[in-house]
Parts: sequence; structure tokens; C-alpha cells
Amino acid sequence: MEKFVYLFHEGNGNMRDLLGGKGANLAEMTRIGLPVPYGFTITTHACNTYYESNKTVPELVERQTLEALACLEERMGKKLGDPLNPLLVSVRSGSVFSMPGMMDTILNLGMNDETVEGVAALTNNPRFAFDSYRRFIQMFSNVVLNIDTFYFEQLLEETREQKGYVSDPEMTAEDWQEVIVGYKQIVKKHTRKDFPQNPKEQLFLAINAVFDSWNNQRAIVYRRLNKIPDHLGTAVNIQSMVFGNMGNDSGTGVAFTRNPSTGEPVLYGEYLINAQGEDVVAGIRTPQPIAALKEEMPEVYQQFTETSHRLEQHYKEMQDIEFTVERGKLFILQTRNGKRTAQAAIRIAVDMVKEGIIDRRTALLHVDPDQLNQLLHRRIDDTATRKVLAKGLPASPGAATGQVVFDADEAEQLGNEGTKVILVRPETTPDDIHGIVASQGVLTSRGGMTSHAAVVARGMGKACICGCEAIKIDLRSKKFTVGDRVVHYRDTITIDGSTGEIMLGEISMIDPELSPEFQLLLGWADQERKIGVRANADNPEDTKKAFEFGAEGVGLCRTEHMFMDQYRIPIVQKMILADNYEERMEALEQLLPMQQGDFEGIFEAMQGYPVTVRLLDPPLHEFLPYKEELIVEVTKLQILDPQSKELKQKEQLLKKVRQLDEFNPMLGHRGCRLGMTYPEIYDMQAKAIFYAAAKLAEKGIEVQPEIMIPLVGHVNELKQMRQLVVNAASTVQEETGTTIHYTIGTMIEIPRAALTADKIAEEADFFSFGTNDLTQTTFGFSRDDAEGKFLQAYIEHKVLPENPFAVLDQEGVGKLVETGVQLGRLTKPSLKTGICGEHGGEKSSIDFCYKTGLNYVSCSPYRVPLARLAAAQAAIRHQENKQEVFTTA
Ligand code: PEP
Ligand code: MG
Repeated sequence: MEKFVYLFHEGNGNMRDLLGGKGANLAEMTRIGLPVPYGFTITTHACNTYYESNKTVPELVERQTLEALACLEERMGKKLGDPLNPLLVSVRSGSVFSMPGMMDTILNLGMNDETVEGVAALTNNPRFAFDSYRRFIQMFSNVVLNIDTFYFEQLLEETREQKGYVSDPEMTAEDWQEVIVGYKQIVKKHTRKDFPQNPKEQLFLAINAVFDSWNNQRAIVYRRLNKIPDHLGTAVNIQSMVFGNMGNDSGTGVAFTRNPSTGEPVLYGEYLINAQGEDVVAGIRTPQPIAALKEEMPEVYQQFTETSHRLEQHYKEMQDIEFTVERGKLFILQTRNGKRTAQAAIRIAVDMVKEGIIDRRTALLHVDPDQLNQLLHRRIDDTATRKVLAKGLPASPGAATGQVVFDADEAEQLGNEGTKVILVRPETTPDDIHGIVASQGVLTSRGGMTSHAAVVARGMGKACICGCEAIKIDLRSKKFTVGDRVVHYRDTITIDGSTGEIMLGEISMIDPELSPEFQLLLGWADQERKIGVRANADNPEDTKKAFEFGAEGVGLCRTEHMFMDQYRIPIVQKMILADNYEERMEALEQLLPMQQGDFEGIFEAMQGYPVTVRLLDPPLHEFLPYKEELIVEVTKLQILDPQSKELKQKEQLLKKVRQLDEFNPMLGHRGCRLGMTYPEIYDMQAKAIFYAAAKLAEKGIEVQPEIMIPLVGHVNELKQMRQLVVNAASTVQEETGTTIHYTIGTMIEIPRAALTADKIAEEADFFSFGTNDLTQTTFGFSRDDAEGKFLQAYIEHKVLPENPFAVLDQEGVGKLVETGVQLGRLTKPSLKTGICGEHGGEKSSIDFCYKTGLNYVSCSPYRVPLARLAAAQAAIRHQENKQEVFTTA
């Protein structure tokens, strides 16, 4: 018989799959003796069984729930529904992975017309009792009965107004009783039934609702965004209530054991006196900073500080703790690994090593490489003048500029069209998540540092300012005002999430640098990783940046980018339009010194590390004007100026464009096929490389050029191109009298190349896997068409787990990479192999590259730090796995 229900003391922290993250934590905290209100957890399997039984709670689950409830009642000395001594419980969801705010919580369950009197008598606080009851009705009605909270809020507001009150604390017990009558009428009107009075019925309705909330819209969106599988299900935690709203010796709060924005090792959070949990999270009342608790309740503060140290030592991670103080007694409601910015993640990992809590390897595993993108983003230039319009709480660091938008749907629409927007809301709720995703940053006028907007923005690495009460938002007229300044819909603003400042217009930003802690962590990463990290760079500036970020070479220099310069493109066009060999050579001779100059800069910036230069790859028409535009221009000239010289030139150009036009350019006349038909282009490029190398060598600067031939599918292509490059090298060496050490290799980006890699390796000193083209050619997808037309649908419908252009398809494309490496090394055991497609900067793909035995990954300069960390994580994880295999074998 499967056990579907676990009392807190029956579980432990390793049972996440079954008890969910929250349930496992509650069990673990109970196990280590922390003051946790007692309760039990219904497992994730029960949730799956619920769905398998057509959304009904199976009999066995119901029986075990009732048994657990009886144990809870006995332990607490209270009974659910007992009019004299009632047990009240909270009912919360809790999945394996944390999904903050995605599913619903019900507090004070067990309240009814009778028990409310019992609570009033027991606490000698009727006001508290009736307030708790009305909160319960409101939450239950919303979550379980699907009645919009708006109706309850409206009634409450009307009552307050009628009585001439400004805020809730002014409401008396009688006022709340009046509100309860109104609330019940709302329920009756919407459901045609009375509010359920039987606490057991309430309990099972709530359990059903939690299971249902696993599949509500926002939970589905969150799971998709965070790649959480749908089949995991959620557990349900039923826990006896403690009350933070029992008077001024009670309160509730949320605190991180360290600052989640900066990582500073000080308690960080906020609390509200005389309030319940949702008051803090909802951001409706602005809470007090946790430091103030030290003054207000010194003993509780002391106990909380000790508990937070203990939790960190136990979990070896920064914790995010929810707590309640009931009449001076501290209770821990929840703890979990705290979400943090990248900056904080690094500082915390490094500090915890220094404090002896974790070792370096664990520290490296504690930082998510994806998060580092945040730090590698731009921030406001220190020298720029900031005309600050208003200031709020600095809730998530980084700066962002965008047009003001007041609605999540609109933010999504504009964002997807490529417009940069800032979402401005009084506060955000989980229903706004799609708008936050599409925005550059978020600004709210209410809520604290742990409000929904703050938590979500930090998780996504977006700039966020919260609780900016100085801005008055008028959602209806789509504007906000600060004093007499008005900011309209789609006006541009800049927000600085590190300072909380809001400014009008766009402000200049600067490139990021690595902090000392970041450098230290990356230094540790370099000691662990077994594969090299290079950068894709095609100009000296990017190469310098890459070097600064720790790149150990250039893995791909796309030489066509050097052709695109506005001064060079006319020469490139002359070269393409040339009618004969002489004319073409004339243009190429003009291009040679320009390319040579670029190579010199790049070689110099890489300070002796290898630089892989790829010869021209794209089809030539990419350097010419668009056919459609030319046709329009020619037609106009034919009408307006039929005798002009310009018309002749344009007609000539159009003729060439038509000649070069291809049905399928991705599979057309590009890559080494250009070198095969126009060897003089490759010859010029090779010579430019060797002249540059010779010049630097003469200056005593070490260079390691690696010349790479793109899009090879047959060994004979490489054989011929190799000879061409060797000849160019001999010519330059003879001419300059300088010996240059170079190698010649190829990209493996056509399936045939991977499948015949043993043959290709005979002519190659190295392979670089071009997984962008290899993905296109393996799937038979043209990237632009796929991403623009159908790929999104494939991902949404789970035909593909990910976008294969972002995350390497290990099963298919990866098999070709493996085959390529194995066959290539059969011919040349020491063959150097790397990857230079976009996957070279993606963590799971980097893990794959490590497993496959590649020598290096190459990615854009800004991803180099991320790749260094991901490479270290791959090495650590696989070594640890090996050890496990070893010890169990
Ligand atoms: C590739 O195909 O993976 C590659 C790096 O080349 P490009 O993206 O320039 O085609
Ligand atoms: Mg390619």
C-alpha cells in the first residue's frame, strides 16, 4: 500500500521528489529541532493519482489524510472544527522545484461561524478572530471557489469608507462581523451555495484546489520558462496555523540569511508587526527592515539570528526564511535556498569558502553560469549626468532603458516586436509574468524588496525598482506623475536597479568589468576545468575584451565581417562585379592590407594564444544590394532618366545580383565552394594572415595562426584548399624571410564531413565543429525560416525540448560531433578539436563537449566567463560521478 501522507517527523530533506521542496524542508527542519508549526504533507504521487482518477482524491489518500489529521490534532491538543478549542491549518502547494507565487495558499482553514467564537474566546481577542475568519473566506473563495478577490476588496473598501477609516487596523470586531456577512453574500451570489461550514469539507476542497493549481495558466507558463517538467505534480502541505496578527507582540516576516542583491553577509529582509504572511508578500503595506526587529523584539531577533546561522550551516546555502512571531514566540514557517542576483551568488559562494562552510568545488557548483549574463551586461556610465526623477527601492541590479508600458500584455506584444519596454505597475502579480519576461526592467510603486516583482526580476536578472511611492500611476490614462512631471505611455525612461533611481530618457551605459570575487571564483574554475575556452572575435576590440575575460585564444574569426565595413564594401563589390581576373585582382590587392591590419590587431590582442581565422564563408550576394530594391531603383531611372550613366551601372549590378541569386543560399555557393571557384579570394586572405603574422614575428610578438576552411564536405575540397594555403605561406615566407608556424584545419559543419572525418583528418591539423550549420544541415532546417516560422510551435508542443540552435541537440547533432571526434582521432590521435557554434557558450552543450573529449569551446567574448565556469562544473560533476561509480563498484 503506497504511503501518500507523511507527518513532518516522518520525512526528511532528501525526499523532495515525494514531498516537494517545501514539504521536504519542513520535515528536515522538524528533524533538526527547529520551531516549526507541526503538520503533514500529501505527496506529489497523490497529485498524479488525483489526475489519473479524473480529478478526484482517491479513497486511500483521503483515508491517510484523515489519519494524519487525527495525529496532528492529538499533538496540538486541538481539533478541526471544535467550537471550544479549534485547530486551524494552512494549506499550501509545494512542488519539487520552487515556483514562487505560482500556486495558491489558504490560511486559517477550519474557521466557521462556530469556531470563530472559540478563537475569540481563547485569544480573548474577538477582533483578531473575526479578521482571521474574513481573511479565510476571502482566500478560500478566491482559490477554491474561483471568485475574484476584487469583489471582497471592493466591499471592504466601501465599509472602510463608510466608517471613515483610512486603514484596516481601525476596523473593530463588529466591523469585521459586518464584513463577514457581506462576504458570505458575495459567495452565495456567485456560487448559489452557502460558504462551506464543515471544516473537513473545507479541507478536501482546498486539497483539490492545490492539485488543480498545478495546472493553472501561470504555473504552466512558469514551468515552461524554467524548464520544469509537467509530470512532477505538486505536494500539499497542511500545517497548524500560528498567528502573526495577534497584537503588537506578534508579527511576520521574510528574511534572507545574506543580502540577495549584493551577497553581503548580513540578515536581510523585512517584517510587519501584527500581520499575516500574505501582507508581506503581497506588498500592500510597506514593511520594516529586519534590523528594526533588534530594537523591537531583541530576544526574538537573537533567536532568529542563531536559527539563520544554523540553517546555513545545515543546508550549506544562503536561505530564504519565512517566520512568524506569535505572542513573542518565534516560529519558522519555511526555509529554502534563497534566490539571488549573480553578483550576490558569487560573493556568497566565495565568502562561504572563506568561512569554511563549503569547499571551492561546492562554491563553483553554487553559481549558475546562466546567471552570470547579468554581470556581463551594461550599467549606467559613472560620468553620465543623472537627472533623477524619483527614487524607489533598489530591488534588482543593472540598468535598463525602455518605453513606459503599464500592462503586461502590451509589454509582451511590444517586447516581442523588438521594442524595449519598462513595465510600470502599482505592483505585479504572477499573472504579469509574461510581461516581465518581455520587458527590459520593472518599476512598481508599491511593495518591498521581497515583493513579487522584486523576486521575479532578480531571478531573471532584470533591473527592478520597487516601492517607488513617489510615482503616482494612473492606469486608465496610461501615465504616471511625479510631482508636476508627467510621464506618458511609451515615453522613454531609464531605471537603475542598483540605486533605485528613475530617470527620463536614455542614458549612456558602460561595459561591465569583473569584480575581484568574480575573478577569484573564475580562477578556481580554471584550476578545475579540463577544456580550453576561446572566443569568437573578428576585430581587435572584441579580441581585447575576450582576452580580459580570460579567453585562451580566438576559436573563430569570421573574416567576412571585415568585408562589411562601409569603406570596404565598395571594394568588395568591385571585386565581385569584376569582369575578368585582372580587375578582380586589383580589388583584392586593395583589400589585402586592410585585412592584414585587422589580423595584426587581433594577433596582438591575443598575446601569443592561437587565433583560428576562417576564410570567407557567406555567399557573395550578401555583399551586394537587395534584388528587390535594385529593381525599384532601375525602374525609376528607366522612367526618369533613361540615358543616365547611373542607370547603366545599376542595370549591370542587377544583372550580377541575378546571376548570384540562389534558390537556397544556405546550401548554395558559399564556404570552401567559394575558394574552389575563386581561389584568388582565399589566396588574398591567406596572404593577409601570413603577412600579419610575419610582421608581428619580426617585432618579437608570438603568433599562432590557425587557418580554417569552412563548409568542407569532401576531403578533396580540403586537400585543394590546404595546398592553396601552403603555397600562400611559402610565398610570404620567401618574400619576408620569416618562418611562420601555422596550422590548417577545417570546420565540421556538414554531416558528410562528420561521417567521413577519418578521411578529412588526413588533411586537417584541427577540427572545429560549426554547430550552427551542423544543426541546420542535420535537421534540414534553415535557421531563419525555422525560428521565424515553426520552431516556436515545435517547442510549445514539445516536439523538441529546446531550440536546437541555442542548446545542442546531443542526440542527433551531438552524435555527429562524437562521430567526427572519434573518426578524426582514429586517423590522428592528437587531432585538436573544438566547437565554435553558438553552443560553445551554453552550459549543457559545454558539458557535452567535455564528455565528448573536445579540447576547447569557443563563444562570444561576453560569454567567456560563463563558459569558464560551466567547463569547471562539467569537470567537477563528471569527476564526482566517476568517484561514485568507483566507490559503489
Ligand atoms: C557554425 O556554422 O557553427 C559557425 C560557427 O559558422 P557560422 O555561424 O558563421 O556559419
Ligand atoms: Mg557555419
